[in-house]
Amino acid sequence: MTGKKKVCIIGGGATGVALLWILAQDKKAREEWDITLIHNQPQLGGHSLTYGVKHNGKTFDIDIGVQFIAPMLYPNVHEMLKRPEFKSRVPVTDYNELRIASAFPRENGKQMNWGNFPEYQQGEKFALYTEAMAKEGTAFLKFVGRSLFGHLGQSLSDFFHAPPPDFKHHKRWVNYFLKPYLSIINGYGAALMHETIFGDLFPLFTKFPLPASWKLPTPLGSFTQPGVGWQRFTKGARSWVQAMAHVAQELTASTIHHNCFAQAVWTDPKTRQVTVQWEDASNKRYEATFDTAVLTTDMWMNSALLQNEKNQWLWDSLYAEYIGYGLKYEGKYSPTGKDWKLPKYVKFSDKPIWDLMWGMCYIHSDSSMLSPDLMDQKETLQFNAYYAPGDTDGNYDLSKTFTTYIQKNVLNDPHADGLYLTMYGYIPDPKKDTVPDPKKVYFEEPWTHGKWTPAFMSGPKGQLHKAQGVGSVSYSGQVDTNVYFAGNNTVADSEEGALVSALAMAEYAFNVKNPLATSNPLAWFILHTYRNVMFPGYTAKRIMKLLRGIFYAEVALDAYAAILDTFWPARYIAQYTSQTVTGMPLEMIRWFGDNLVAILLIELIALLSKRDDVLAWVFRAFLVGDVIQLISYAHYILSNPGVPLTGGFIFSIVVVAFLAVVRIIWLLSYRNAVKKEKAA
Ligand SMILES: Cc1cc2nc3c(=O)[nH]c(=O)nc-3n(C[C@H](O)[C@H](O)[C@H](O)COP(=O)(O)OP(=O)(O)OC[C@H]3O[C@@H](n4cnc5c(N)ncnc54)[C@H](O)[C@@H]3O)c2cc1C
Repeated sequence: MTGKKKVCIIGGGATGVALLWILAQDKKAREEWDITLIHNQPQLGGHSLTYGVKHNGKTFDIDIGVQFIAPMLYPNVHEMLKRPEFKSRVPVTDYNELRIASAFPRENGKQMNWGNFPEYQQGEKFALYTEAMAKEGTAFLKFVGRSLFGHLGQSLSDFFHAPPPDFKHHKRWVNYFLKPYLSIINGYGAALMHETIFGDLFPLFTKFPLPASWKLPTPLGSFTQPGVGWQRFTKGARSWVQAMAHVAQELTASTIHHNCFAQAVWTDPKTRQVTVQWEDASNKRYEATFDTAVLTTDMWMNSALLQNEKNQWLWDSLYAEYIGYGLKYEGKYSPTGKDWKLPKYVKFSDKPIWDLMWGMCYIHSDSSMLSPDLMDQKETLQFNAYYAPGDTDGNYDLSKTFTTYIQKNVLNDPHADGLYLTMYGYIPDPKKDTVPDPKKVYFEEPWTHGKWTPAFMSGPKGQLHKAQGVGSVSYSGQVDTNVYFAGNNTVADSEEGALVSALAMAEYAFNVKNPLATSNPLAWFILHTYRNVMFPGYTAKRIMKLLRGIFYAEVALDAYAAILDTFWPARYIAQYTSQTVTGMPLEMIRWFGDNLVAILLIELIALLSKRDDVLAWVFRAFLVGDVIQLISYAHYILSNPGVPLTGGFIFSIVVVAFLAVVRIIWLLSYRNAVKKEKAA
């Protein structure tokens, strides 16, 4: 027995392991918490999965999920990787020429392709890349830049419903240029025009005039030139996750269960302890009780974990609304037959609250996955609609497309010639869909995707705080479950999203400050933004919470004044004037003391109720009182020129003015928090 509190982190992807590291690196948290991490794979990593492939006599570390990061979009990851303990363990390689290409079914015999680099912009193969299309692309990028002034919240479908007149060929351009690009960004096979807002694209497509010393070249994405400012994990994304685990274990020994599949999580209604049940690879079942559990698994898995008899009281009243049921893929979780062994009682639904996507990735050596019309292999990745003829999006069907990363260009290594990674935003059916030749497949993995940008799933994301266990700020309707949710679904599906959700959770549930505290304003901005997605109005609520101490001090001061007024009114008035007060005026001071008791009780009850709406009404009334009091002080001073002011009187003016200011800050923060919660 260590005497420490116990926390169970479920899921050993970037989020779970980042949380492990954040808790381990903080001295107080280290002393306070005993950490267990339960992970269902043999190695940590999750979607940051790097697979060693032997090809052409050499072993390559191929990322089957994460391909690229960028200091501009991933400033917190960037800051972390600068720390000495990570610098040597997690090298990154700059990738300053992200060349993308798109291939479509032929149109009237013409080869329909384009690329964002000169070799793929002229010649008969590239019939799509006309001057008009390039102009459209440039106009769009300019508009994205200008969207800062009032359009950041506008969705792309709204914009293209009635685009400005300079978008003359927008229908063709949207189908053949924008949608493929968005499909690559958002989740393969889905452009999600109605969910993508300009605010999502702004940091990606805008050319920022940043100082060269910042080494943040932009734009990251373009239709007319290769993207710049990208990086890769030289040894694969898993190297980052594993480095976090190693550093954490060096600081304090945590228990990490590999190959263990969490089956159920429930909170005891009386003790509020959380029990986690899991199975190891040989189906042996275990159960342990914790003070806190953090689920970093995706929302469909969370749904499965939380649906159980012992958790029924919470499922019915809380989780069914905010987590909801997951979507099972045609009755099976895993199309490759690797069944996730979920208990039978877990239910699924046709319309889950969380709109995740299924996906599939193959590492292979089958070059026929590229379009036969675009075999040059000069691009980093090829969006391929050639095998998806249809009439939904121009002359193709976006939902049946896929993207292939050409590894010799991704790795910048000619030895990787003939090695590919193909990603689908659905689970392909080998009987109907184009898939790599099974004999040429090195590795395959089905995924559920969370969707890349924060705007996606903003509905359920904006409500999730209500299902979070109580933390450093609180929300009405929350239940003290001691179960928390972090991970890419809660913010944005990226390595930065994973890290930031862990940082936000560490502060919310464990009171651990951001260890990456930095002068990098981008890092601060992203953490601030994502944290407010997870916990709407977080900053405003923290300010309100900090100010509460001052109001308790006010109650104490009022109590002191009330006692003095009631029992020793003469002593009280002596603080304000050297005149002697007797008779009825003295009695009135006593009555003032009685009233003060009522006032301080109102404030105390409002403070103790933890209901900010009630407190807001009280403070509004008190603020009016403060103003009247300050006016009467001013009136007294002006109508008694030359009368010296006593120390007690001056102190009283300062206190009332100070409290008025604090009340105004509290009320403004409250307004901000309510606005953010409503917007969520
Ligand atoms: C195909 C693909 C391409 C991507 N490309 C990029 C990219 O280029 N750049 C980028 O930044 N991001 C990219 N991402 C996103 C990025 O990989 C994720 O956002 C990030 O890795 C998510 O980390 P996480 O810890 O939140 O979730 P995960 O990595 O999903 O971790 C959750 C973990 O929980 C485990 N788990 C699930 N159920 C259980 C259970 N019952 N018991 C125990 N463990 C369980 C899972 O195995 C997994 O390891 C990509 C993702 C995919 C799928």
